[in-house]
Amino acid sequence: MRYISTRGQAPALNFEETMLTGLARDGGLYVPEEIPSLSADEIRALAGKSYEEIAFTVMRPFVGDTFSDDEFRSLIARAYAGFNHDARAPLVQLAPNHFLLELFHGPTLAFKDFAMQLIGQLFQAVLARRGERVTIVGATSGDTGSAAIEAFKGLDNVDVVILFPHGRVSEVQRRQMTTPPESNIHALAVDGDFDDCQAALKDMFNDFDFRDEVKLAGVNSINFARVLAQVVYYFSSAVSVGAPDRNVSFTVPTGNFGDIFAGYLAKKMGLPIDRLVVATNQNDILHRAIASGEHTKHGVTPSISPSMDIQVSSNFERALFDAYGRDGAAVSALMSELDEGGFTISQGAIEALRDQFDSGRASEEETSATIKDMRARSGELLCPHSAVAVKVAQENLTETVMVTLATAHPAKFPDAVEAASGIRPALPPHMADLFERPERVTRVKNDLGALQALIKERIAR
Ligand SMILES: *Cc1c(COP(=O)(O)O)cnc(C)c1O
Repeated sequence: MRYISTRGQAPALNFEETMLTGLARDGGLYVPEEIPSLSADEIRALAGKSYEEIAFTVMRPFVGDTFSDDEFRSLIARAYAGFNHDARAPLVQLAPNHFLLELFHGPTLAFKDFAMQLIGQLFQAVLARRGERVTIVGATSGDTGSAAIEAFKGLDNVDVVILFPHGRVSEVQRRQMTTPPESNIHALAVDGDFDDCQAALKDMFNDFDFRDEVKLAGVNSINFARVLAQVVYYFSSAVSVGAPDRNVSFTVPTGNFGDIFAGYLAKKMGLPIDRLVVATNQNDILHRAIASGEHTKHGVTPSISPSMDIQVSSNFERALFDAYGRDGAAVSALMSELDEGGFTISQGAIEALRDQFDSGRASEEETSATIKDMRARSGELLCPHSAVAVKVAQENLTETVMVTLATAHPAKFPDAVEAASGIRPALPPHMADLFERPERVTRVKNDLGALQALIKERIAR
C-alpha cells in the first residue's frame, strides 16, 4: 500500500513513513493510492465480532508490512483496553429509525481517543524499532490535545507540544491538557483562535530546517493514520444495524472534516452508506461550500461547541482531491486561493462532492433546544457537538436508518449542557479530582518565531 500527496509533488510513501511524516513536504495531505475494499460477505462476517477484531480486519490492508498480523493485533488490543465500555463504541436508539453512536467512552471522553490511543501505540512501536525520537506538535480546538497527551504522556521517544487557543476551550478541556505532570508534555496557550494554531503548525511543517532539527511529527488529522482508525466505527455500527444487507446513513458533527472523511473511506471500501451528512455549528463554511460551491472564509465566532469552531478544515483537501479527479495541481491552485480568502469549487467537483455529502447547520439556540428536547424524549444527555449533529440528522431522516455520531461526553461541556437542560453532568470517577490538580501551561504570542524558539528550548535535554 502506497500513499500519495494531494498536491502531487511529494514522494509516495509506505504506511510507516506516512504516519511519521504527517504533512507532505509539498504542503499536501497523504491519501492511499488505492482504496482496498471488503466484500459483502467479509462485511457480513463482522457481525457479532469484538471492536478489536473489526478494527484489525478493516485496517489491516492499509498498514502493509509495517506490522506483522500478531503485532498489529496486540497494538490494537492495548489501544482500546483503557476504554470504559466493553462495546467501545456502543449504539443507543434515539427514535424509530435514528441511532446515536457513543464515541466518548475513551480516557479523555471524546471520539479523538479512538485514533489517538491507537497511534500512540503505533508510534511507540515504530520509534522503538527505529531507535528514533520525535517532537509531536499538535494544534487543538480542545479535544485533540487532551487525547494526544493521554496517549503519549510518559513515553520515552516522544515530546508532545500542544497549541490551544487561549480562552477558547472549555475549562475541562483545558485542565485535561494542563494537569498531566509528565515532563514530556508541554501545553501552550496561544493568543489566537484555532485556525491560528493550525496555521502555525502548518508553517512549522513547511519550515524544513526547523522540521528536520526537531524531528517534527504530527498527530492532527492531517496524519492519515488518525483518519484510518476512525473508519472502524463506521463498520462496527453499520453492521450492528444490518449492513451489508441494509443501507445506513451517517450524520457527523464536523470541524476539520477528519471524522466524516473516515466515513467516506468506509463507503469507498464497500460499506453500503447511503448519505454522509456534514453537520456544522454557526461556523458553517463547509455547509456553505457544499450548498453553494463557494468556499469562503468569514471568520470564526466562538460557540458552545468549541471543537467545531474552525474555518479551514484541513481534511476537506482530501475530499477535494478526489472531487477534482485526483489532480494535485488543481488542488494546489485552490489552496493558494484559500490563503487569499477563498475559492469557487468547479461545477464538476461540486457535483462530485454532492454525490457523496449532504450538509446542514445548527444555530446556538437550536443546539441548546436539541439538548433539552433529546433529554426529554430519549433520556440521552447530549454534548453540544453531538446535539448539532442530532439536529441536522433530524432534518435529513429518510427511510434509511440514520446513525448520528456523538463525539464527546456531556461532562466535557458542563456549563452549556446545564444551561440547556438544567442538568449538570458529572465527570466519571477517573477524572473526578480534575479541578483539584495543579495546572502547568505557558502562554505564548501567536508568532511563529517565538513558538519555534520555545519548542526548541523545551525539548533540549
Ligand atoms: C474534533 C471534534 C469534532 C470535529 O471532528 P473533525 O474530525 O475535526 O471534523 C467534533 N466534535 C468533537 C467533540 C470534537 O472533539
